[in-house]
Amino acid sequence: MTTVSGTRPVVGVLALQGAVREHVAMLERAGARAVPVRRPAELSEVDGLVLPGGESTTMSRLLETFELLEPLRARIAGGLPAFGSCAGLILLARQVLDGRPDQQQLGGLDVVVRRNAFGRQVDSFEADLPITGVPGGPVRAVFIRAPWVEKAAGGVEVLATVPGPADPDTGPDGPRVARIVAVRQGAVLATAFHPEITGDERLHRLFVGLVREA
Ligand code: GLN
Repeated sequence: MTTVSGTRPVVGVLALQGAVREHVAMLERAGARAVPVRRPAELSEVDGLVLPGGESTTMSRLLETFELLEPLRARIAGGLPAFGSCAGLILLARQVLDGRPDQQQLGGLDVVVRRNAFGRQVDSFEADLPITGVPGGPVRAVFIRAPWVEKAAGGVEVLATVPGPADPDTGPDGPRVARIVAVRQGAVLATAFHPEITGDERLHRLFVGLVREA
């Protein structure tokens, strides 16, 4: 099963929906050999897996259609390093708030996420975020109908937060709750934002490092 060739680990990108090409390009720049994954046989060949953004309810359905749901759950439970962005974070979470009742979870992250958490007013936004474990200054983070992590268990390391939306009761000048938007639990990494579209491969480098360690 292990297919590490030299020091270039093989990292899959779940290719059911979303920015697959962008993740492949970033992983290659970060020192991995990147391959799209659509079938169980392809999944069994990878040393790590990226779950891109998209629509978590659709991706959940496609995982079932492509017969990837159970094999992927099993590999994640077995310690497969995984990196989820946005919808990928939602899929990896133990529990989803504001999800669809039939949407499936992969597990891997002992967190509760809230879908579309930032609300309509701030549907999409960008921020420069310092991220624990990412050297070289803040990362430009692009949020698109993003979730946040509402609760994280003790074993989950919070890597980044952003100020949440204004509270209607206290208005725009009131206090803002810091919302968790990047986490790591062992070899599982996840961001509420899209790290693949800014040309900055530092988060992919962090992930490829986790894959090498695993
Ligand atoms: N809102 C989407 C969902 O629920 C996630 C958005 C994204 O991946 N950019 O899956």
